[in-house]
Amino acid sequence: MNSNKIPQKYNLHTHTYRCRHASGDTADYAAAAAAAGAELLGFTEHPPLFSNAAWDPFRMTAEELDGYFNSIAETAEKYPSMRILTGFEMDLLPRFKSYYEDNLLCREGIDYLIGGVHWINYHGDWLWIQEMNSAGHLREYVNEIAGLMESRLMSFITHPDMFASGYTRWDDNSRDCSRDILAAAEEYSVPLEINGNGFRKPEISTPDGPRYAYPLPEFWELAAGYDITVVCNSDAHKPENTMSDLDKCHDIINRFNLKHHPVQSMFSDAS
Ligand SMILES: [Zn+2]
Ligand SMILES: [Zn+2]
Repeated sequence: MNSNKIPQKYNLHTHTYRCRHASGDTADYAAAAAAAGAELLGFTEHPPLFSNAAWDPFRMTAEELDGYFNSIAETAEKYPSMRILTGFEMDLLPRFKSYYEDNLLCREGIDYLIGGVHWINYHGDWLWIQEMNSAGHLREYVNEIAGLMESRLMSFITHPDMFASGYTRWDDNSRDCSRDILAAAEEYSVPLEINGNGFRKPEISTPDGPRYAYPLPEFWELAAGYDITVVCNSDAHKPENTMSDLDKCHDIINRFNLKHHPVQSMFSDAS
């Protein structure tokens, strides 16, 4: 079986200074990707929102959209041998769907969207993912992930196991949460991302001992029991990390005999 063969050298999850918690611009990331021999590089900045002040410090403004598109286009011209894609990392909550559709998805030049849950709305309160600590929070997290999948707009779900950065116990609740996410990924045929950024953050303490907040090995061990595919990305927030920690993501694929998504066919119709 060669299902674990790396389809190509790629990273499909890259930020820029525009999200206010990253540094460097598209040219800096492309230079690092080219130096590492990448064939495919995708930019996935957090898109602007208009209605949630708590989220504003973590994303570009609407005024920066044109600059984002232009910067990627200019960088792509400089690296004709590397495929460079334009995307966004979305929290696609139903309440924002029409805003996204009217302001982002109708724009030309978007190659793909990735879906990630960073906040949940629990009984009217916004909770940062690291504040999640109950079975109810996990159920809402699953609902949000399932909503992203049901939209059919997402090329893959980023860091699906990031719930483990807040809910730190591995117990029946976190197992149920994991199984529900994995079953939904199988049902909707949406690839899941093993996210390398977790390896670059400090380990957290849990009742089971210190570990990375994510990726969560227990989640990926369960994933082996589902008919799903995975992608490996660096989730770079600094140019020097553009292609970082992908080997560790691939180690998870090999350890649990997961199926690598055929990334080369993912964007066959993208310009
Ligand atoms: Zn994210
Ligand atoms: Zn990201």
